[in-house]
Amino acid sequence: MPRPELKPCQFCGAEVEVVKDFEYCFEGYSVWCENCHSSSAIYDDKTDAIEAWNRRTNDIQETNNLRAQQEVHQALAD
Ligand SMILES: [Zn+2]
Repeated sequence: MPRPELKPCQFCGAEVEVVKDFEYCFEGYSVWCENCHSSSAIYDDKTDAIEAWNRRTNDIQETNNLRAQQEVHQALAD
């Protein structure tokens, strides 16, 4: 199975990494950004953690696009 691509941090754009049993605070895998300390939820499976991280990145990008469109509409309404 090909390894899923791990997208950069959606907050700061830094490279992120998958951590396991991070500082013994949890048992499982999570994607962690060392730069801004954002992280995904914790998953038993490494692939699930990566997919969840990537999905959230997409969600946030779509939200930002929607917000930009709304701002355009408001600008036109004025
Ligand atoms: Zn970050």
